[in-house]
Amino acid sequence: MTINEVKAIVSSSSALEVVKAAIERAKADRAHALLELMEERALIRAGEIDEKLNNGIDAGSLAGVPFIAKDNFLTFGSHTTAAAKILENFEAPFQSEAIERLEAAGAICIAKANLDAFAHGGSTENSAFGPTTNPHDSTRVAGGSSGGSAAAVALDIVPFALGTDTGGSIREPASFTGVVGLKPTYGAVSRYGVVAMASSTDVIGPLTHTVEDAKLVMDVIAGKDTKDSTTIENPYDVSATEVKKVGVIKEWLSDGVADDVKSSILRTLDTLKSDGYEVDEVSLPILQYALAVYYIIVPAEVASNLARYDGIRYGVRPGTTTNLASVYSETRNHGFMPENKRRILIGNYVLSSGYYDAYFRQAAKVRTLLTNAMNEALETYDVLVGPTVPTVAFKLGENTRDPLSMYLADQMTVSASLTGMPAVSVPVESDGLPVGFQIIGARGSDTTVMAFASVIEGASV
Ligand code: GLN
Repeated sequence: MTINEVKAIVSSSSALEVVKAAIERAKADRAHALLELMEERALIRAGEIDEKLNNGIDAGSLAGVPFIAKDNFLTFGSHTTAAAKILENFEAPFQSEAIERLEAAGAICIAKANLDAFAHGGSTENSAFGPTTNPHDSTRVAGGSSGGSAAAVALDIVPFALGTDTGGSIREPASFTGVVGLKPTYGAVSRYGVVAMASSTDVIGPLTHTVEDAKLVMDVIAGKDTKDSTTIENPYDVSATEVKKVGVIKEWLSDGVADDVKSSILRTLDTLKSDGYEVDEVSLPILQYALAVYYIIVPAEVASNLARYDGIRYGVRPGTTTNLASVYSETRNHGFMPENKRRILIGNYVLSSGYYDAYFRQAAKVRTLLTNAMNEALETYDVLVGPTVPTVAFKLGENTRDPLSMYLADQMTVSASLTGMPAVSVPVESDGLPVGFQIIGARGSDTTVMAFASVIEGASV
């Protein structure tokens, strides 16, 4: 159901009935999309919304609409674990800004969704609480790290879910589960109260059934916030410019792309051409370095952001020792997943003296070259397009033994992250499992990207 369909039910019955029904669907979660229900708080809030509605008081643009948040958003009425043992018992003392804004607009959070611990991963198999499976095929992954959020929407438990995207974590699971996933321009949404992964690329965005719904959510959550100094003026307030020229990224339709993905994308491009769009191939050789740059810069920022989980300020303290060094090591050994540890180690390595120049500084320079090349292409083309991921959803366990094969799934998503550009994944017609079509625009061109996403959505119905 879309947001407007749910709103229609709220007005013909009540927020309480709508929320109760969503909670029942959440209890039947067959994909392990969810980690914790927020039944008590959700029902109380639904009652409050109904009271407002019954008294003719404006209850907000999303009054009574249930939603689900990835479990790295701080919320009242549940734990916030980031799917890691180290935060297993953590109850947030305040709520994230995005949740606060949604609540102020009348939306009701009913549950917290599964993720790769600390959002490190692309399959939700790195969750300390077990993987989320794909609603279209339970032997396959839902993608990650916002796999629970994507699966919850795909299962139609709620019309929208919140995710975070640092290198593809909204777009990749959207692609694998057949929903719309939007990573807005960097800074479009306040990250206050969201567990940090890599601060120079972390963004918040919605997973929805339709492009229109993604816009409805952004209208509520986007915009400046004094509590997050990286926030910008709301790019969703700016009107869209008409897309005429579409640049298809050549490197993303080459040999490494699975045939089923390629044929879906090519079919969509044919429709665009016959609808009169100018569709050209554009080659950006620098893209071959994007993944390497990402897997240097992001672990460096992860190492810094995760230093606070020491068993003293944050985190369970499993051992009995009072020796400082062993408190740290026991807490971290127990509380982090292997992938978290790997990133902390790589991050500290690339930042350490002697290696900083060879790795981090080089990566930062190539990041600038990547930004320049993409900006230049976006002077000629209104949007850049291609697949979201090179394959359809892979099998559970298929990539868990080899981190590099897991990282390769990110090769088409990390560039928009490193450059701060808006990017959306829209499902397009496929012969079997869902395929996502990715649209990238210049920083701040979110409404243009979204308007074009609606065209793609319409082209593939
Ligand atoms: N899969 C990517 C990674 O593992 C992206 C994660 C994310 O966006 N949070 O880093």
